[in-house]
Amino acid sequence: MAKGIPKRSEDYSKWYTEIVQRAELADYAPVKGCMVIRPYGYAIWERIRDALDAMFKETGHVNAYFPLFIPESFMKREAEHVEDFAPQCAVVTHGGGQPLEEALYVRPTSETVIWSMYGKWIQSWRDLPILINQWANVVRWEMRTRLFLRTTEFLWQEGHTAHATEPEAVEETLRMLEVYRRFAEDFMAVPVITGVKTESEKFAGAVRTYCIEAMMQDGRALQAGTSHYLGALIMAHSDDDGLVLPPKLAPLHVVIIPIFKGDAERAAVLEKAAALRNAFQGSGVTVRLDDRDNVSPGWKFNEWELKGVPLRVEIGPRDLAAGRAVLVRRDTREKRPVALDALKDDITRTLPEMQQALLARALQFRAENTRPVEDYASFKAQMERDIPGFVNAPWCGEAGCEAALQEETKATIRCIPLERSAEPGACVRCGKPSEGRVVMAKSY
Ligand SMILES: [Zn+2]
Repeated sequence: MAKGIPKRSEDYSKWYTEIVQRAELADYAPVKGCMVIRPYGYAIWERIRDALDAMFKETGHVNAYFPLFIPESFMKREAEHVEDFAPQCAVVTHGGGQPLEEALYVRPTSETVIWSMYGKWIQSWRDLPILINQWANVVRWEMRTRLFLRTTEFLWQEGHTAHATEPEAVEETLRMLEVYRRFAEDFMAVPVITGVKTESEKFAGAVRTYCIEAMMQDGRALQAGTSHYLGALIMAHSDDDGLVLPPKLAPLHVVIIPIFKGDAERAAVLEKAAALRNAFQGSGVTVRLDDRDNVSPGWKFNEWELKGVPLRVEIGPRDLAAGRAVLVRRDTREKRPVALDALKDDITRTLPEMQQALLARALQFRAENTRPVEDYASFKAQMERDIPGFVNAPWCGEAGCEAALQEETKATIRCIPLERSAEPGACVRCGKPSEGRVVMAKSY
């Protein structure tokens, strides 16, 4: 199955695209730039969405739904908003076979329509705060697209909150940033740096843009956000044989592969395998018995490895005679015999261990590929490496210097970390005074 998939070290970008398609996460749609999220990919998305949704609701958010179409006048109300989005928008000019009196934009974000409704609903400070979240699809016309990472239509979540005071609004933003950080680390097993975007990188119209930045296996940064979660999830952990999914987001935790020759062995092995599967019913651990007759066990091993199922149980006649099965971990490939009557406990214990191990591995990788840099020659050399990684370097805070740095090195300032300490120094590029270090990297 893994045949024909380029190794990560050979062509990371092609490797990614192949994995996405072969693991049946997504496929290209008839419309250029759009994708079909296939059932297996959507099952992962549902887990992402459900986990985040529960966390949002814990913070007092409620869900609502706003329309797909936005009147053109709304888009034009704020010059900055229209400048930023208009070139990326799909616009509907006809409806019901007639030209429309006012063109309708397919939402690139719901901000304008949500705030127009808030204007109607908020009579006084007593109506505040409003904490509304929306799960929706948005459209941004893209010239260069990439499955999950950049597509013309994508699924996302947008929270728009209204507060009585500025400090309360800031407090709310930081609370949500912490929710995203916790989700990335606890569910995706992807460590992130929380920070603030520089003036030139911030979202149009925003006072400040907060972000979480993660490092992928090729040492590039990815700003994690709902639309990117699936891409980040794939890129952060997977290997040359396919997906490696953190158990908390895996649609299927365990696959049982029966091994047999002839009808008598088949009956005996399948009976034990089915009993094992049934033992997990209602436990929260999802188990599938792959009893297909038309493909070999080896073929099944490869297929489920490609799909990133965390644990595989192999069970054959010799195992049965010895009262055991073989348990194989997807992340480490560790393979060990486990007594049949201890298997359920072992699996229940191993899944959270794998979740932890993935985070630990990602943390170690990030630590090994994050370096302080003081001078521009070293910075440039670092960005030329196969795995450029994150650089912590002093920066003067000037937009012109940032633009030049990007032009000269293709790297960007990913964020000003929230947890940075004041550290007077000299800007890595221009030598002007710097108040502290920022995170610089090449990015997606
Ligand atoms: Zn500078």
